This record gives sequence, C-alpha cells and structure tokens, in this order.
Amino acid sequence: MNALNNLIFADATALFEKAKFVIFGAPYDGTSCFRTGSRWAPNAIREASYNFESFIAAYGVDLAEVPICDIGDINTGLDREAFFREVEETGAKIARDKKVSIMLGGEHSLTYPCFGGHRKKLKFVVLDAHLDLRNEYMGAKHSHACVSRRVVESVGNENIILIGIRSGAKEEYEFAEENGILYYSADRINSEGLDGVMRALSGIRGDVYLSIDMDAMDPAYAPAVSTPEPFGISPSHVREIIQKVAPRAVAMDVLEIVPQYDSGNTAILGAKLVREFIAVACSDKKL
Ligand code: MN
Ligand code: MN
Repeated sequence: MNALNNLIFADATALFEKAKFVIFGAPYDGTSCFRTGSRWAPNAIREASYNFESFIAAYGVDLAEVPICDIGDINTGLDREAFFREVEETGAKIARDKKVSIMLGGEHSLTYPCFGGHRKKLKFVVLDAHLDLRNEYMGAKHSHACVSRRVVESVGNENIILIGIRSGAKEEYEFAEENGILYYSADRINSEGLDGVMRALSGIRGDVYLSIDMDAMDPAYAPAVSTPEPFGISPSHVREIIQKVAPRAVAMDVLEIVPQYDSGNTAILGAKLVREFIAVACSDKKL
C-alpha cells in the first residue's frame, strides 16, 4: 500500500482492526482504451466525499459513528500482474476478518482480482453500460472489456446479473443469450422501471459483490468516465439497487471515473454512492 497518501475518505477514521467497512484505492488504468486516467480517481472520490454531511437522514445513520477505515492505495509502481496480486491480497485480508471491502478504482478489470481475494463463490450484481463479456480484448484477457466474462467463468452463468446494459459486440450478446446470462438493458429500465430488476435481486441468496462501473449511468449524470455511453440509467435507479443489495453485500466497488474529464460531479456521485452503500448496509431498515 502507498503510505504517502494521507488523504482518507471522509469519516473513515477507524483503525483496521475495529472497522466494519474497509476502503482502499486501486489506481490502475493499464487496459483503458478510450479515455485513460481512472488511476487518478481514488483521490478524486476521496476529495469529493468531504462535500457531504456525516448524518444521512434517509437511513438515520451517522457515518461518523460507523467504523470505517481507509487503508490507502495499492502501490502504483507495480506492473499489471503484481498490481492485481496486491488487489487480491487486499481483498483477502479484508474478507478474512469478515469486513466489507470497498474498492475505489481504477478500471473495471480490477473487480476480478478483488473478487478473487474473497475466495468464495459470490453472487454478482454488476452495473454497467457494457456487457464486458469478451473473451479477450486487444490481446488481453484481463482487459476492462472482459471482466464480466472472467467473473462468469468463476461463479457460473446463473450467479451474475448485469444492469444498465446498452453496448456490446454482437458476439457478446450471443454469448449472453447462449449462456442464459441475465441482463437488464438501460432501455428496458428507462421504459418499464426497476420492477423486473428488483424481483431478480430479491431472488438472490448468499453473499453479494456489487460492482459499479460508473458508465452504467447516463453521461448527463456521470460524464467523466472512460467509455461514456448515452441513454443510460439514472443515479436514482442505482440508489434503489444499492438499497436492495447493500444489506447482503460483502464487497462493492466504484470504477471507471476519469477525473480529467470531470467538473467534479462524477466523483461526487461516486463518493455519494459509497456513502449510500455504507449507510444502507448498517441501517436497520432493510429495504
Ligand atoms: Mn465495465
Ligand atoms: Mn462500462
């Protein structure tokens, strides 16, 4: 971890041993293909987190009273393999102590090593504009464009739900159909609402990994992402999904923010989603 980084996520003042939620930054964007720069996002999200009150009235939770720890960033001087290994070890260390891990990316490929650290079959709820079901992309199997494919290979077709989808190669859509991978398009959510998604989420049994590729949301709300895709879902949709999933989540991540393209609102939204997640996860109101 990078000890030089003194900036911590707001209210994340607990010691690791005492923490229920552990935040870490994963500043890696080595396979980003359109806009690079998500490696700068962990600190942009941390800075944005100071915008908010510690008390979250909607859930009656004061984050200043919740044991949250921010252990800093994975070392940026590492190559891809070493970086992924450290993400996996960090995920493992947090999971071993039965704490909830919150990873601030970085690009979407990082979900896979982070999940690997949990060393059990988790159920995946992935918010994304993109299917990310390619077997490989530009010669890389660990590209951001392949992350859901790698997850499917590990947990099985039936243990992943993709939400907000509106982009993929023809082969990816065929792969999803042939393998019965459940996905909800942004078009369907925007016309029918979240009823179908909520029913599917209600059917999940066991521990959940919630992965938020910020491009799931419309660029009007989250413009500063690596691969923006118009006609997305709204932050309120994402909030409802968090309200449903957070009580059973053992891990979450917020990925693909590229601060150079931001006037601040994408990082603020990312920080807010983390705060919503924590507040819901520790509130008594299981929505
Ligand atoms: Mn993605
Ligand atoms: Mn995406």
